[in-house]
Amino acid sequence: MTAQHFDVVVVGGGSAGSVLAARLSENDDRQVALIEAGVAPTDPDIAKPAMWPFIQGRDYDWAYETVPQPGTANRIHPWPRGRVLGGSSCLHAMAHVRGHPDDFAVWAEATGSDRWSYDGLLPGFLRSERFSGGASELHGGDGPLPVWLPDEEVNPVVRAYIAAGHERGVPTLPDHNGRNLNGTSPNSLTIRDGKRVSVADAYLTDDVRARPNLTILTGVSVHRLVIDGNRVTGLAVTRDGRDETITGDEIILSTGSVATPLLLMRSGLGDPDVLRRAGVECRLSRPAIGQNLHDHLLGAGNVYRSSQAVPPTKLQHSESLMYLNAADITEAKGVPDIVLGCVTGPSVSESFAAVAPGFAYTFLFGVTHPSSRGYLSIGGPDLHDKPVIDPAYLQTDHDRTTFRRALDVAREIGSAQALTAWKAEELLPGPGVRTTAEIDDFIARAVITHHHPVGTCRMGKDADAIVDADLRFNGLDNLSIVDASVIPTITSGPVHAAVLAIAETFAAGRR
Ligand SMILES: Cc1cc2nc3c(=O)[nH]c(=O)nc-3n(C[C@H](O)[C@H](O)[C@H](O)COP(=O)(O)OP(=O)(O)OC[C@H]3O[C@@H](n4cnc5c(N)ncnc54)[C@H](O)[C@@H]3O)c2cc1C
Repeated sequence: MTAQHFDVVVVGGGSAGSVLAARLSENDDRQVALIEAGVAPTDPDIAKPAMWPFIQGRDYDWAYETVPQPGTANRIHPWPRGRVLGGSSCLHAMAHVRGHPDDFAVWAEATGSDRWSYDGLLPGFLRSERFSGGASELHGGDGPLPVWLPDEEVNPVVRAYIAAGHERGVPTLPDHNGRNLNGTSPNSLTIRDGKRVSVADAYLTDDVRARPNLTILTGVSVHRLVIDGNRVTGLAVTRDGRDETITGDEIILSTGSVATPLLLMRSGLGDPDVLRRAGVECRLSRPAIGQNLHDHLLGAGNVYRSSQAVPPTKLQHSESLMYLNAADITEAKGVPDIVLGCVTGPSVSESFAAVAPGFAYTFLFGVTHPSSRGYLSIGGPDLHDKPVIDPAYLQTDHDRTTFRRALDVAREIGSAQALTAWKAEELLPGPGVRTTAEIDDFIARAVITHHHPVGTCRMGKDADAIVDADLRFNGLDNLSIVDASVIPTITSGPVHAAVLAIAETFAAGRR
């Protein structure tokens, strides 16, 4: 058994961890280590934007799955997560949507800190972004991550769907990253020169990797924290099949919404009953770890047969998100509660037979602020024991009612004149599905994850919060958590931009 010591050890080289490793090592007096279970990506398909739905399940995916979900016809939902340098930013769909300012007002309220308000996070958003439209008060122009707003590359059927939104009175947005989110725009994408740019590509450049004070250890799995009194004294890891200990004055967990609570639980931090059942001795009772799990779902989908060939995507299939007020889709202000997405082909859950691509397009539909809350926990003491993941999908009236409305709106957009040149017929749910019971049954079978699990180590000022407003773990002196797990309530849109802003904001406080 050998030991290596650093000033700061960041665990998890995914989206947040890559930002932290780069930013914290800007101070050359600080010895920083980044530990990642996966290795640097080698699969060329990762870089191809249109391949993103097809690379899940490969050997750089943790390939989690939920327990059967009563709210979704008892289906088990696959939950891909990246196990590779760059983490889930190597698997994700590349849509860059910050969220609505009111989303972050809830975070500021939860923590009692304006740092987590929209204006508090804005410098972090700006620092992370290199927007194709150039720098402005609301857009970063020289950050590491390209945020590209496509134009003529947008598929003609997606343009027709945007026009259909306008016909129905939906506001126009210049892009998704201003202060208003209600409306429609092509998606801003983290793509440069036709290739995906992962957060590791963007932040862990050759210059950064060459820093003498940054050590990136890939292929190293962290099994548990070694705890002595109120301090984490080390990390029990496996490297090249050997057990080792890595130590640091400060430990930051960036292993993500699923792996971070699991790592804490394997280390004896969590609900004593859950730990006992999993064969882990409880060191610190923190029952809220792993609770508050929530995620966006998308109905897949409201599918149409097209009367003319739909050209293949030049982007990543799902080219435009439309955020809407459920009560009035023409409303421009306020936080949206439903979302539609236009896919350039047929997009269906495993419950339905896929029609051949080429003559079909799909409107995905979803709820931006689900109120269902689930939990996750370890299934045993070891890293490779299958976890129990229960997001409690569609367990509230709010979620079921708002989902019905989202499908209604998708159909309303789908029947607009602007789509006449494309629409041959609605294939799913199909004209026969009209009653509430039929619609609920369809939604339960159609929904799939939008891949945004959050909340399992939420930040807050209350005693049950897992981390405080500084993202310090409540109960241990030198442990922080910086990843999607600290998000207390989900943003309206995809969460990746917010994860990067959290990491940038945390790092700015440590300069
Ligand atoms: C298929 C898919 C599509 C998505 N699409 C979008 C999208 O279009 N837009 C958007 O905004 N968001 C999207 N997301 C969500 C977004 O990618 C994530 O929310 C974000 O990447 C989470 O960042 P993170 O740093 O919390 O975790 P991750 O990026 O998952 O990083 C965690 C890292 O920790 C490592 N790790 C875990 N356990 C250990 C351990 N025990 N030892 C060592 N290392 C460990 C992992 O291997 C991983 O590299 C998508 C996600 C997926 C999976």
